[in-house]
Formats: sequence, structure tokens, C-alpha cells
Amino acid sequence: MRGGLLREVAGGVVDLLWPLPQGCPACGRASRGGRFCEACRRQLGFPPVPSCPRCGLPAPVAARPSGLCDVCAAQLWPFTRLLAAAPYREPLRGLLHCLKFRRERHLARPLGEFLAERLAGRWEGAEVAVPVPLSAARLRERGFNQAQLLAEAMVRGRVPVVEALRRAPGGARQSLARDRAERRANRPQLACVRQETVAGRRILLVDDVFTTGVTMTACADALLRAGARSVTAAVLCRDL
Ligand SMILES: [Zn+2]
Ligand SMILES: [Zn+2]
Repeated sequence: MRGGLLREVAGGVVDLLWPLPQGCPACGRASRGGRFCEACRRQLGFPPVPSCPRCGLPAPVAARPSGLCDVCAAQLWPFTRLLAAAPYREPLRGLLHCLKFRRERHLARPLGEFLAERLAGRWEGAEVAVPVPLSAARLRERGFNQAQLLAEAMVRGRVPVVEALRRAPGGARQSLARDRAERRANRPQLACVRQETVAGRRILLVDDVFTTGVTMTACADALLRAGARSVTAAVLCRDL
């Protein structure tokens, strides 16, 4: 396909300087600059139901007075808050697949802007945005880190996006793990390599999908060990 080939060849430069004319990524209807159209923006996100104030999990009816879910009440997450824009389902699931596995980089911008819009008013206190890193091998294979592209499109220069974390080599691919227990067992090893940037700051940790929370937890732990004042986790999709 000619459009696909052009994007392959010209990569991110074309996306940044000369966006290809595209409709809404979800429904294909005409939209400004390839963004999600009004109708899709209203439909894609989480519905406004009562949810845990810390992690956003939809709360059971007889919740405790604090409103916290069981996991948050037991203080099991290292991050201060988990902010998720939408459930992990179509069409966002398919769009993330296109971004990551078909390398459709142009999708990062509308997805990142959607993320910023859905989380508006809840992340702006952050001082530094840190994308969840890929392994070196995966980064070579893909050519970009989707979490970094999402973070850049989300913050749009308001705070620096800093690759402060590195994954230790090895470890099985989370996407190949058979179930949640196996993913937990494959907990990734992460290290902060930009301590001077992280120490004393409020960090916005950004990723595309939150499933078990294993990776986010390892990242937040590494940032806090490096002296981060707090970590707010922001993800495009949450797999409940
Ligand atoms: Zn649409
Ligand atoms: Zn919670």
C-alpha cells in the first residue's frame, strides 16, 4: 500500500512535519488532523461510574467509606495514583496493536492527545514524564518505544519526557506469558539511570496498557528508590 510504504520509509519525520490526511482513527470519519472525532472521544473512555480514587478500579456497591478498593486499601501499589483513560477493548486495543506491531507511528499522536484529554486536571502537577521502557532487544526490533511516543503526545512539551528507566536484559516477553500468574513470575528488573532528574520530583509514569501492574510496579519502585517524591501512573488502557 502506497500510504503504508511512505510511512515506513519516511518514519516519524512525515508524522511530525507533514501529517498524512487521515480521518478519525477509530471510525474513519473526517476529523481534524487525524484526531479522534467528537463521537468517538465520548464513547472510548471509561464511563463515569464510582471508582477507587487511587487506582480507578470500578468500586463495588458496598465499598469501604474511603472508597478504596481492596488492593489500594492494603497499600499494595507503589504509585500514588493510577490514571487510566479507557478500558482495554476495541477499537483502542486494535489501534495499539497497529501502533506497536505494524509500526503505525502516526497513531501515537491522537492516542496521546486522547490520553491527555481523558486525564485532564489529574496529572498536571507532575514535573517529569518517564515512559515505561522496552527491553533493548524489543526497542531494536520495533524502532521506537510506544510509551515514549504516547508520553510526548500527552504532555506536548509542558514537562520534559525523560528516558529515566532501563530494563535489565533477559526476562520473558509479557505478551507471550500464558496467564497473569506467569506474568507476575516474570517480573522485569528495572533500574533508574537518571537519578539526578528523578530525585525530589513528582513523576508521571506513562505506558500504553496496564494489565497485572507488574511492570508499572517495578518501574515505580525503581523511581522511588532513586528518590522520586511521588509517582503517578498514567495509561491509555486498563485491562480490568
Ligand atoms: Zn470517530
Ligand atoms: Zn484501588
